[in-house]
Amino acid sequence: MAEAAGVLGQSPEFATVVVIGAGPAGLTVANLLRRSGVDCVVLERRSREYVAQRQRAGIVETRAVRMFDRWGLADRVLGGPPHDGILEFRVDGESHLVSDSDGSEGPAARLCPQQILVQKLTATYLADGGDLRFEAADVSVRDLNGDRPTVRYRTADGTPHTLTCAFVAGCDGDRGYSRTVVPEGVLTAHAFDHGIGWLTVLADAPPPAHPLLAVSSQGFAAHFPRGPHSSRYYLQCPPVDHPEAWPDTRVWDALRGRLGDSALAAGPITEREIFQLRSLVHDPMQYGRLFLVGDAAHIVSPMGGKGMNLALYDADLFAGAVRDFLRDGDESGLRSYSQRCLRRVWNDQEFSHWLTRTVHDAGDDSRCGPFHRSLARARLDRLFTSPPAARAFAELVTGLDPVG
Ligand SMILES: Cc1cc2nc3c(=O)[nH]c(=O)nc-3n(C[C@H](O)[C@H](O)[C@H](O)COP(=O)(O)OP(=O)(O)OC[C@H]3O[C@@H](n4cnc5c(N)ncnc54)[C@H](O)[C@@H]3O)c2cc1C
Repeated sequence: MAEAAGVLGQSPEFATVVVIGAGPAGLTVANLLRRSGVDCVVLERRSREYVAQRQRAGIVETRAVRMFDRWGLADRVLGGPPHDGILEFRVDGESHLVSDSDGSEGPAARLCPQQILVQKLTATYLADGGDLRFEAADVSVRDLNGDRPTVRYRTADGTPHTLTCAFVAGCDGDRGYSRTVVPEGVLTAHAFDHGIGWLTVLADAPPPAHPLLAVSSQGFAAHFPRGPHSSRYYLQCPPVDHPEAWPDTRVWDALRGRLGDSALAAGPITEREIFQLRSLVHDPMQYGRLFLVGDAAHIVSPMGGKGMNLALYDADLFAGAVRDFLRDGDESGLRSYSQRCLRRVWNDQEFSHWLTRTVHDAGDDSRCGPFHRSLARARLDRLFTSPPAARAFAELVTGLDPVG
């Protein structure tokens, strides 16, 4: 407690928390800390313009919406309309609408594209007087095992800066720096390659009525809203494919075939990328005074829409734990941070893995054989016909399951 009081009253080059990375994880940590009266500095390698335009996730799940609501931030940081709670599966062109709302009271999931969340988190943090330093190069961290870690970086003109702090939040994503400072042998990496490639396409084309997952013998495809006039599409492809092999006509023909919609409206394609579906968990998510938050600690295959939402979950636990320590001298949140985060991470990994296997195995059987194709179709059939199965699915989609 004595330390906690001292930490709050330091000079400007001391920040109680240094946050590395201004993606959804880092910006959420920073905003929640400010709401708690805890000072922090955010160091981001890229420019504000770059970070604000990075398009990825599209739905802030119900649990995360309620988290922002609990912190009094939902109105300020969330954009986009509420999600209507319906997900469409299309199997060989036949539509099945599944409720992904658990029917509970309270705000629902929002169709809020990741870049809108990032823009609003940035604006809110800065409007509240937050310290956010873009284009911070060569970030390095020392003394994580003492109670005053040191963080060094350079500004764009090369000027070196040093900050001391009480905690470092490593929010710099899967390819960031923070995790690399943990000595060899401390973290265990659990990695899984699904052996599946996805072509992902962003286009200025009308969004679907509901988020749409399509299963067919031609392979998996999906169509998600990303704003009133834009959509993200996914097409299963060989893991080592190239975007150049997918000119516009091939993209739209494949989507029309797999979605079973010959009238699907096309539009200008603004992004085209191939990536491999993979999952990765680092355990533990803490080393000394360094706490890994979001993609810096774990990657979830995009099926199920959990990556960004897990980052928001970690951020909530970390900020709450720092607040409790500084305000009440209560260390329990910091001590249990890794264990509590990992419980949800594995829960969401399992959901994402289940859904990935189901929608891919149920389609093209050249990948998994007819036996697994029939198993996957049986799982889908259960989801479409059994109310308890649909309820369990909704609980996982909303994030309102009992885990955490
Ligand atoms: C194509 C695609 C689709 C996706 N769809 C979904 C979805 O539908 N739903 C979902 O929930 N998730 C989805 N995700 C996952 C989601 O985008 C990530 O989980 C999310 O971005 C994680 O946020 P983060 O803040 O942890 O990491 P990031 O968003 O990666 O942010 C890390 C930040 O740290 C900065 N940084 C890196 N290194 C340094 C350094 N050395 N110094 C300072 N700063 C640094 C980076 O510039 C970046 O701004 C998708 C991902 C992809 C690729």
